[in-house]
Amino acid sequence: MDLFDKCKDYTETKAAKAGGYYPYFHPLASAQGPEVMVEGRKMIMLGSNNYLGLSYHEHLKKAAIAAIEKYGVGCVGSRFLTGNTELHEKLEKKLAEFVGKEAALVFSTGMQANLGTISALVGKNEFAVIDELDHASIIDACRLSRGRTPSYRHNDMASLEKTLSLLPAESGKLIIFDGVFSMEGDIANLPQIIELAKKHHARVMIDDAHGLGVMGAAGRGTCEHFNLTKEVDIIMGTFSKSLASIGGFIAAGEEVIEYVKHHARALIYSAAFPPSCAASVLAALEIIEKEPERRKRLWEISNKMHKEFKRIGFDTGISATPIIPIIVGDNMRAVHMCGRLFNKGIFTTPVISPAVPEGHALIRTSYMATHTDEHLNQVLEAFSEVGKEMGII
Ligand code: PMP
Repeated sequence: MDLFDKCKDYTETKAAKAGGYYPYFHPLASAQGPEVMVEGRKMIMLGSNNYLGLSYHEHLKKAAIAAIEKYGVGCVGSRFLTGNTELHEKLEKKLAEFVGKEAALVFSTGMQANLGTISALVGKNEFAVIDELDHASIIDACRLSRGRTPSYRHNDMASLEKTLSLLPAESGKLIIFDGVFSMEGDIANLPQIIELAKKHHARVMIDDAHGLGVMGAAGRGTCEHFNLTKEVDIIMGTFSKSLASIGGFIAAGEEVIEYVKHHARALIYSAAFPPSCAASVLAALEIIEKEPERRKRLWEISNKMHKEFKRIGFDTGISATPIIPIIVGDNMRAVHMCGRLFNKGIFTTPVISPAVPEGHALIRTSYMATHTDEHLNQVLEAFSEVGKEMGII
């Protein structure tokens, strides 16, 4: 057996490409706004995490350009050694203040924030207790840690209670879950998770990648939404969604940050993100604080689309946020539906098993504060036509 035999035998994507329905890696030739240029065509973007439409905002672009002029284009080293800059530290201070914790630590991606933090904290004979639908970066982080990883049924508090009750009382435990689930668009039951954590002496870590900038009266995330910031031990977030750049962070008490800073291999053995990213994230935080109308518009759009998709007859599952899945069930059906939508100028992506449970394939639609009513009406018309053509509605 040659190691590469599996590559030779891998034909799924070849068939999809030959059939013209391969839905991934479309190269964009424009900024990621509500309209994008894809393969020479103008399309409505309907799968972006650019929730507040900030990735092409003038204030962010100017901040990034000024940082490039001052610091150059890259850090050329780990923050631990020579790649740290005053902008990374300024951003850490600002993030801690923004989410309401003592201190913060930035990593080069959200994935690395999870990998580094969880593997540093959950040691031998300790437990990472995770929701079965947690993001892949949490699952991989648990694999890297030396502890064990029992999981509970999705957002099911009886299942979490049972899972916790089976663990040794004296062992360290960290419950880790998405604040807003990235595919289903539902919100973690934070009040009950906290209650159970207290009862079973567990610590709590929320991955708020999709909650930051979206949830809470001031966009500070899922903890603000429930008014439970103090009760959550570690808030993790990423810059690759509402904050419109690249990078990730955790915010927590000073002692935890100091420990992770000196134990997280994903931080220590990997180069820092460019200062221009720190500058644009700082600028994004300013806009989030100054322009609450963006968040208000995003929720208006989200409420409209929830209502309209249901009225037309689509199954949007358990979503309660601007991530609205259209559940179609079969993997190939989701792929073909995306292909038909693509032909009508709508850019979305199918999410198929194993990323979601078998038989639960979906089209992940998500919204930007900068979508206009006209965009949304075009989207609804296209979904309605394709849904009827395919016998889904
Ligand atoms: N957590 C969640 C819930 C996510 O959705 C993502 C990105 N898809 C990440 C972590 C990883 O973030 P990043 O893109 O910054 O690596």
